[in-house]
Amino acid sequence: MFEGVLIRAYGGFYYVKKGDEIWECSLRGKFRLGKSSPALVGDRVMVTPVRQNTGRIDEVMPRKTELFRPAVANIDQAVIVFAVENPEPNMTLLDRFLVLAENAEVLPVVCLNKGDLLTSRRDHEWLKLYKRIGYPTIITSTKLGEGINELRQLLIGKTTVFAGPSGVGKSSLLNAIQPGLELKTGDISHKLKRGKHTTRHVELLPLNKGGYVVDSPGFSSLDLPQMNKEDLAYYFPEFTGFIADCKFNGCLHHREPQCAVKDALDAGLINKERYQNYLLFLEEVLQQERRY
Ligand code: GDP
Ligand code: ZN
Repeated sequence: MFEGVLIRAYGGFYYVKKGDEIWECSLRGKFRLGKSSPALVGDRVMVTPVRQNTGRIDEVMPRKTELFRPAVANIDQAVIVFAVENPEPNMTLLDRFLVLAENAEVLPVVCLNKGDLLTSRRDHEWLKLYKRIGYPTIITSTKLGEGINELRQLLIGKTTVFAGPSGVGKSSLLNAIQPGLELKTGDISHKLKRGKHTTRHVELLPLNKGGYVVDSPGFSSLDLPQMNKEDLAYYFPEFTGFIADCKFNGCLHHREPQCAVKDALDAGLINKERYQNYLLFLEEVLQQERRY
C-alpha cells in the first residue's frame, strides 16, 4: 500500500498521484455503499497496487477542509483575485469571498491584478485595509511580470483554489506562474446556462515546485453557507477582538445597545464598508434561517 493524492475522478476511475506517477484506481466496494462523495479530488488516499500504475483505493484519509462548489478536499488556500479595473473591484464581492473562505477554513490571499493599470494611490487604498485586517495581500501584473514570483512562492507545497470574477486575469496569472497550466474559466452566466445536470470534473493541476492548483474557480456558488447568525461576525477578523465586550450574549452587532463592535465602528476602528457588508450578509443569514 502507498499513500497518494487523488487528483482527478472520471468515468468511474480515480487517478492518484504518487511522486511523478499517476495510478488509475478503482474504489473499494465499501466506499460506494450509500455515500454520495466517498472520495473527493484532493483527498489523500491509501492505494493497494493491482498492476503497475493500476490499483485500488482502500482508504480515504480524514479531510482537513472540504469545499462543495467545486467539490474538492484539503484546500489550503484561496487566492481571491480582483483587478485594478476592467472589471472594477467590488468590495462586497470580495467580502463575500472572504466569508466563504473563513467558513471553509481556507486561508485567503487577496490578489490585486492588472497592477500595470494603477494610476494613483487611491486605486489600491482598499488593499491596505485588508492588509491591516491581517490578510496576505499581493499586487500582480501579468503584463509586467510584477508579483508573479511572489505569488509562485505562496503556492509551493499548498493546494490552492483561485477565485474571483471573470476577466480579472485568473488564467493569465496561472499561465504566468507555470506556462501550460490551464484554468477553466468563463463567465458565471455561461456556466449557469449549462444546467444542473452537466457533470463538472474538477482536477488538481500539479505545480513544478510542489503543490496543486484547482482547475476551476473556487466558490462558484456565492450563497453564504448555512451558519449560526452569531458566527458571521467571527468571519470578520477585525471584529473578533471586540465581540467579548458586547453587553448581550449573542449580540448581532446591529440594533443591540452597548455593542462593542458598533462602538469600535464609531471610533473609526472598524471600516464602514466592511460593517455595511456585514449587515448585508447578516440579513441573508437571517433570511436563510427563516426558510429552514
Ligand atoms: P479570467 O477570466 O479571470 O481567467 O481572466 P483572463 O486571464 O482570461 O484575463 C482577462 C483579460 O485580462 C485578458 O484580456 C487578459 O489579457 C487581461 N489581463 C490579464 N492579466 C492582466 C494584467 O496584469 N494587466 C492587464 N492590463 N491586463 C491583464
Ligand atoms: Zn455587539
